[in-house]
Amino acid sequence: MSSELTDIKSLSIDELTKELTDRLEVQKFRAKQIYEWLHKKLVTDFDDMSNISKELKNKLKENYYITKLEPVQVLTSKIDGTQKYLFKLSDGNVIESVLMKYKFGNSVCISSQVGCRMGCRFCASTLDGLERSLRPSEMLDEIYRIQSLTGERVSNVVIMGSGEPFDNYDNIVKFLDLLTDENGLNISQRNVTVSTCGLVPRILELAKRQLQITLAISLHAPNDELRRTMMPIANKYSIDEILHACKVYYENTKRRITFEYSLVQGVNDTMECAEELIHRLRGMNCHVNLIPVNPIKERDYKQSFAKDIEKFKNRLEKNGINVTIRREMGRDIQGACGQLRKSYLES
Ligand code: SF4
Repeated sequence: MSSELTDIKSLSIDELTKELTDRLEVQKFRAKQIYEWLHKKLVTDFDDMSNISKELKNKLKENYYITKLEPVQVLTSKIDGTQKYLFKLSDGNVIESVLMKYKFGNSVCISSQVGCRMGCRFCASTLDGLERSLRPSEMLDEIYRIQSLTGERVSNVVIMGSGEPFDNYDNIVKFLDLLTDENGLNISQRNVTVSTCGLVPRILELAKRQLQITLAISLHAPNDELRRTMMPIANKYSIDEILHACKVYYENTKRRITFEYSLVQGVNDTMECAEELIHRLRGMNCHVNLIPVNPIKERDYKQSFAKDIEKFKNRLEKNGINVTIRREMGRDIQGACGQLRKSYLES
């Protein structure tokens, strides 16, 4: 993509209006029309903007480009209909997105970076490190393409695919604004979840914005010592610091915090771990999502036995903690994040 052209889909409606009126001397209402073509009608070509004059289309083409992801592979689960998309970006990189169909609507899990540098031991996305962060328009287009390809509305978005969203903080905030803008797809903030491995300063920064977005923390261990063996980020921020940031987030937003806890056989699924976790989370308005870990061939982590998962859940529940076991979606289509991309790159 030419570096002289501006990424039009990453501009907010205010920025677009300013750009078009100042730079191209276009009337204000045209900016709104163009914004709607991009973010509501989801066109990927200026020529498809039927109420825009040829002259203006030409001016737009001379100054801007429209981000468009190319689907290179779509896998559909025979078990639950989950679809995994592999998209190619304009620079040739590939990313994964997942469409999950629930009773309450369609939920898309997006990637926020190409690869990831956080190094969590149970994760396939990080095996080759970070390639680059995604722009707002690229994250939006994961959702826009899926909605266009399926013809079905996406109602929920989770930023839980490859990448650490808060390692791409400015673009994530911009993306959230665009995603929930009433002039665009208008997804309710309450239907958006952002998942982080615990970058404390960014959690506090997001808390200040007082959005109604659900914050999910990848916790995975009840103490720092164990967490450090699973997630290098635990060397930088302690669980105490993370929980303090979560309390601030809750005070500012009144949104219940979700804690993700991947259960690994013999590592963090013991009753001692359950007790420690209960002790840590006591008094917090939170929800624990237990995830039977998806084994990846490069690492030796095994999924906990079903009976141990059940025991862990029961112990938490008995102590008044809200807990669910995450249903494995798309188990037959390389469900774990980063697996499909990795096998595509290796093929
Ligand atoms: S779990 Fe998330 S933060 Fe950790 S390596 Fe994977 S993508 Fe990165």
